[in-house]
Amino acid sequence: PVPKERRAFTGSAATADGHAVSLLANIGTAADAAKAAAAGATGSGLFRTEFAFLDRAQAPSEDEQTELYAGVLRAFEGSKVVLRTLDSGSDKPLPFLDPEPEENPALGVRGLRTAFRHEGLLRTQLAAMARAQTLVPGTQAWVMAPMVATVEEAAWFAGLARAAGLATVGVMIETPAAALSAEHVLEHVDFVSLGTNDLAQYTMAADRLSAPLAALNDPWQPAVLRLIEATVNGAGLASARPGAARRTVGVCGEAASDPLLARVLIGLGVDSLSMSPGALAAVAEALAASTLEQCRAAATAALTATGAREARDAASGVL
Ligand code: PEP
Ligand code: MG
Repeated sequence: PVPKERRAFTGSAATADGHAVSLLANIGTAADAAKAAAAGATGSGLFRTEFAFLDRAQAPSEDEQTELYAGVLRAFEGSKVVLRTLDSGSDKPLPFLDPEPEENPALGVRGLRTAFRHEGLLRTQLAAMARAQTLVPGTQAWVMAPMVATVEEAAWFAGLARAAGLATVGVMIETPAAALSAEHVLEHVDFVSLGTNDLAQYTMAADRLSAPLAALNDPWQPAVLRLIEATVNGAGLASARPGAARRTVGVCGEAASDPLLARVLIGLGVDSLSMSPGALAAVAEALAASTLEQCRAAATAALTATGAREARDAASGVL
């Protein structure tokens, strides 16, 4: 049971038996970064860069982007910020990309796919991120690409990001294909971050914006949990290769902000959780109320359940 009186989040979190968990904030603007830092977040696991440019007729310049990213890095001095490259298309079209109408935008040219046609824009964005890192060396700037489906895409992105001077490069795991290819994806990148909002949408073939399909679009669906497990297993295999550094797995979808599911995710072997800042205190308290062994038992119970409700019930029976 989690106590009702909630103390402010102080920046560190651990299970009852002392297994440390990195809790980070999802942000969309520089103002969000300041608010999240004030709320105790020591870093950001997801900066959605496209949010700053949704109303633009012209692409933002490298200088403007550098200033924006440096401002966000400054808010988290001494920690890390995961900068996500533009996730445009689908529900977030960027006018300056002149998107073509699509029959199925969620299955269309979105996320990293837009960069295949606008490589210059991606190069400019990566250059701005690298310059921001130089301006704020006290914060680690990690960079990641959204909506990756193949190992080849991950390798292509990693090549561009490293050539721009960025040291820590990752991709989001938002498609079942990427989850099932995590071991090979992680031969090219340093970390992955599970976007469970999209992973649920693509696993269950249910539009995340569709109210009638909300029950399908649920990260408690055991099929989604099994893909998270597959991603963690892939990271373990990639980390075990001779000479390889340890590959980390984060979650930055809404699933991380559910205090019960957060413990299941840690039980599955996820390293860090990034969420809206308002959820940090409740998730930290939930973690402190359970041991790692209990989290693992809850994960096993949820993975083998027959449905989303059954998975939630099984996990809460253990925790
Ligand atoms: C996700 O898909 O879970 C995610 C974090 O990215 P976004 O919600 O911005 O698509
Ligand atoms: Mg997403």
